[in-house]
Amino acid sequence: MLADMKSVDLLIVGAGFGGLYMLHKARSLGLEALAIEAAPSVGGTWYHNRYPGARVDIQSMEYSYSFDEALQQQWCWSERYAPQPELLRYANHVADRFGLRDGILLNTRVRGAHFDEAARRWQVFADDGRRWSARFLVMASGPLSSPNRPDFPGLQDFKGAVLHTADWPHEPVDFSGRRVAVVGTGSSAVQAIPIIAQQARELTVFQRTAAYAAPARNGPLDREFEARIKADYAGFRARNRRMHGGFGTLLPPNPVSALAVSAQERERSFEERWRVGGFAILGAFNDLLLNLESNALLAEFVRTKIRATVEDPQTAALLQPTHTIGCKRLCVDSGYYETFNRPNVRLVNINQAPIERFTATGLLSGGRSHDFDTLVLATGFDAMTGTMLRLDLRGRAGLRIQDKWRAGPLNYLGLGIAGFPNLFNIAGPGSTSAFTNVIVAIEHHVDWIADCICHLQAHDKSSIEASEAAETAWTEYVNKAARRTVFLSCNSWYLGANIAGKPRMFMPLADGFPRYADHCANVAHKGYEGFVLQ
Ligand code: NAP
Repeated sequence: MLADMKSVDLLIVGAGFGGLYMLHKARSLGLEALAIEAAPSVGGTWYHNRYPGARVDIQSMEYSYSFDEALQQQWCWSERYAPQPELLRYANHVADRFGLRDGILLNTRVRGAHFDEAARRWQVFADDGRRWSARFLVMASGPLSSPNRPDFPGLQDFKGAVLHTADWPHEPVDFSGRRVAVVGTGSSAVQAIPIIAQQARELTVFQRTAAYAAPARNGPLDREFEARIKADYAGFRARNRRMHGGFGTLLPPNPVSALAVSAQERERSFEERWRVGGFAILGAFNDLLLNLESNALLAEFVRTKIRATVEDPQTAALLQPTHTIGCKRLCVDSGYYETFNRPNVRLVNINQAPIERFTATGLLSGGRSHDFDTLVLATGFDAMTGTMLRLDLRGRAGLRIQDKWRAGPLNYLGLGIAGFPNLFNIAGPGSTSAFTNVIVAIEHHVDWIADCICHLQAHDKSSIEASEAAETAWTEYVNKAARRTVFLSCNSWYLGANIAGKPRMFMPLADGFPRYADHCANVAHKGYEGFVLQ
């Protein structure tokens, strides 16, 4: 058995944007690396999330790799916010351009990995029985990669098609003439609903929590703007890396409290950024995500926009979110609220009257039956930990990840886990990933991991493992950062609150990318302080 086990230096789980860059980087260090991907294609998120309207919510000139100057100069985005098919083409282009395909095993699902203490190597195994031995194991399986499929009573009785935004069919879905139901009103639904509504005969949206959405103001990419950025792309990237979210240098946050200006000045600033679109509005003042009072002013501004957009007062009232804005990730939309003015679209509040059960022809909620032919679940993800916890992952002394993370995803710097030597996590819990332009987060993690491996080689060490003390202190640091913000004031996937029974722990680090990156750099400069090297 062990004889047919292939040995590699570094094994990567996933061939999305994280896995692709990790593979390229590992090869540039002369390591033998292999990426294993369950899907039949590279691209990760952008392979699976192909629902109508799917597009990135950070500008394409920012949401792209920076590690290769020729790549960033030569690639041309078509729109300000790239649509999913173009992002998938980009991932494929990167795989081809850097000759990565022969290092990627597609259609292969990693089932688990056990750490062999004597050999100090990971034994990795796939669903189909194949096995590998690897010195380093990198989890590039993505923070949002396990779709959340709520256990709705009677769903199996529903006779129509059931689709999930995060696991969308690869053949075209034609909604014309159909009665469609969408459950959920997060970022995915907010993008899909306007497009589905244009095709469907009837669309019923089942809303548990109303969403805040800022207009994307998407359009063709301005070629002059592109040329300006490309004239100093490296400088643009470097400036973005010093921004809180790793992007946004085009319109930096206003360094003033929302409470320090007059009502007119506040309105002017909100309006100006609303016109720019996207996440710009969250930077209108420096305390919108820190201070509940400031936050409430922005929340009311957006509610006013909703009231002004939605014609039916009852629907407009239902669409008014009441929670803190930005506490759940702000949605970025193209015509979401306007869609509720269409005669074929209906909004059903399932907050007060939750879905009781599905039937052969639809669902029952609040004692009423709603009939439809196609159900779209836009119910999100078991975020940040879902994918890792589905694996049979065992560290030293057979420690199971499910036991280790029983109370939440303990880790150090988001990169290492005590008890799991030589395992690195890309863009997972404990890092700023969810609050950062994720490609910036990925590149930072991959570069840090590569430097770390070089350090181990230079110092003749065979393993690195986070210490429990460092992990405990880091977990407290992550909690403390969250307590300084408004993020604990609502139920979000950041907190694990969207999944029944999931332990509540604030998972991403809300401390800003620059501070986090400095922290990681300091740890490295101090000889990987907080890690045990052997
Ligand atoms: P989400 O934000 O978690 O939204 C899920 C929606 O489903 C919420 O409205 C939620 O209601 C509802 N829901 C979940 N379980 C339910 C249940 N049992 N009954 C009724 N409703 C239920 O998921 P998402 O929209 O897929 O987005 C997740 C994240 O992916 C985003 O925050 C973003 O980071 C990323 N994303 C990005 C883009 C982009 O770049 N443009 C697009 C899509 C997604 P509650 O709010 O009440 O829980």
